[in-house]
Amino acid sequence: MKIQPFLPPKRTLMGPGPSDVSPRILEAMARPTIGHLDPLFVQMMDEMKQLLQYAFQTQSELTMPVSAPGSAGMETCFVNLIEAGDQVIVCSNGVFGGRMKENVTRVGAEAIMIEDEWGQPVDPNKVESALKKYPNAKALAFVHAETSTGARSDAKALAQLAQAHHTLTIVDTVTSLGGIEIDVDGWGLDAVYSGSQKCLSCTPGLSPITFSERAQHTLQNRKSPVQSWFLDLNLVMGYWGSNQKRSYHHTAPINALYGLHEALCILQEEGLQAAWQRHNHHHQALRAGLEALGLSFVVAPEYRLPQLNAVKIPDGIDDAKVRQHLLEQAGLEIGAGLGPMAGQIWRIGLMGHSAQEANVKLCLQALGDALGAQNPDFSSTVALTAANAQYES
Ligand SMILES: *Cc1c(COP(=O)(O)O)cnc(C)c1O
Repeated sequence: MKIQPFLPPKRTLMGPGPSDVSPRILEAMARPTIGHLDPLFVQMMDEMKQLLQYAFQTQSELTMPVSAPGSAGMETCFVNLIEAGDQVIVCSNGVFGGRMKENVTRVGAEAIMIEDEWGQPVDPNKVESALKKYPNAKALAFVHAETSTGARSDAKALAQLAQAHHTLTIVDTVTSLGGIEIDVDGWGLDAVYSGSQKCLSCTPGLSPITFSERAQHTLQNRKSPVQSWFLDLNLVMGYWGSNQKRSYHHTAPINALYGLHEALCILQEEGLQAAWQRHNHHHQALRAGLEALGLSFVVAPEYRLPQLNAVKIPDGIDDAKVRQHLLEQAGLEIGAGLGPMAGQIWRIGLMGHSAQEANVKLCLQALGDALGAQNPDFSSTVALTAANAQYES
């Protein structure tokens, strides 16, 4: 049998990532591939650094995209800063805090866990007690926007506590970057990683990171070499650093980087504040519609992420059937629950290019119809009316 080229259908992506990719970005990625040491490519890399510095709100020179997905950005932070025998305070209130713990133990360090319930933010009081109890802890690691539950933690407050105890922060901003406020320098975050496919709306596979001067100092004063050759920033910066001749480390994913450059240009054109406001604006309309459908949110309003709407699946509704209906009838993808929340919740993303009125309406229409197919009490009309009222308010 001769296999034919793969022609994916057009979908609307309103899950936990990837989000809808703007046609501008796909077009950018189709431009001619040039060498990764071509002087014009190197110019593009310099611009990329500036664009990322803007997105993260930092002046740090060590700001660049890791050539791999968000998980590799996470690993980059841990393997470069943490050594065997170190203690790291890890906050866990969902899936991704659990992965941070794995990163800590796999470098031979000790993870001191602070657990909060799924759906709750990280509790700063627990963090403060842990910082007092473990004065030698090298880092405090936490997730700013927990994509598994839709909860936002107070990154600024947690960073202040860490600074007061002379402890580094390692911060997951994969879902927050471009969607809600992040101020890396203003808040004094030390090692921060993100992802390309959430609120930046680029294709998956790149992980922007930034390291503060404190983090760079820690890296330069390691006792042991970084165990990962590929993620060792001392080596990677031979290619991404600015004050030196760029030397080959690995072949950069050239066309993927065109895409990220375009995504960051789009963010710069819109402006950070405007992007945060847009996410909130459409979230409020979606929230009104979902609540009119009778769905309730997992997270309290003050900790809710606009870009990740986690709602409880109503009693008597078949989760898989609803998501199948959305995909087949409306070409719409939403996210299922993870871990203990599997079968309990849906995660509706409004990330980046997906955060727009047409998506909100498509989702409410399709979800109302899918629920109505199982129980005629549900109606998309009331949901759309509520969303429209919110848009007009
Ligand atoms: C998506 C996500 C990751 C992992 O990113 P990948 O690109 O899937 O490796 C890490 N942390 C959070 C909070 C995420 O939402």
